[in-house]
Amino acid sequence: MSDEVEKAQQAERGGDTIFGKILRKEIPCNFIHEDDSCVAFHDISPQAPIHFLVIPRKPIAQLSLAEDGDAKLLGHLMLVGKKIAKDLGIADDGYRVVINDGKNGAQSVFHLHLHFLGGRQMRWPPG
Ligand code: AMP
Repeated sequence: MSDEVEKAQQAERGGDTIFGKILRKEIPCNFIHEDDSCVAFHDISPQAPIHFLVIPRKPIAQLSLAEDGDAKLLGHLMLVGKKIAKDLGIADDGYRVVINDGKNGAQSVFHLHLHFLGGRQMRWPPG
């Protein structure tokens, strides 16, 4: 089992997360984007030459717990990510957007986040 999957299976659901601490600036993180409803930053353990995360300020634990009223916010996260992908130069060749949800999705941090991965050829199916 990969470290990431193991971490995901042991991850605590609910409560504060490392991303909550990042949002409150309790732990240092260089944001590549910041606005009223979300922030983006590079993943600490990149799985591609470019790998960044876009997270809402609202502490939605996982996609499956998002509500109808979050529709605008969810759309905003994608549009912010696509703009950053262009700025970072991965848009011309394409990239992958991933949301891991829950145990089978190998989610390890229970604060919703979109992974944007690019700069190399992706494979399918994912592991
Ligand atoms: P997931 O497995 O979808 O929950 O993804 C969580 C991601 O957060 C992983 O790719 C981690 O490498 C990343 N991560 C964890 N802590 C940090 C941190 N302090 N700064 C940036 N990325 C982090």
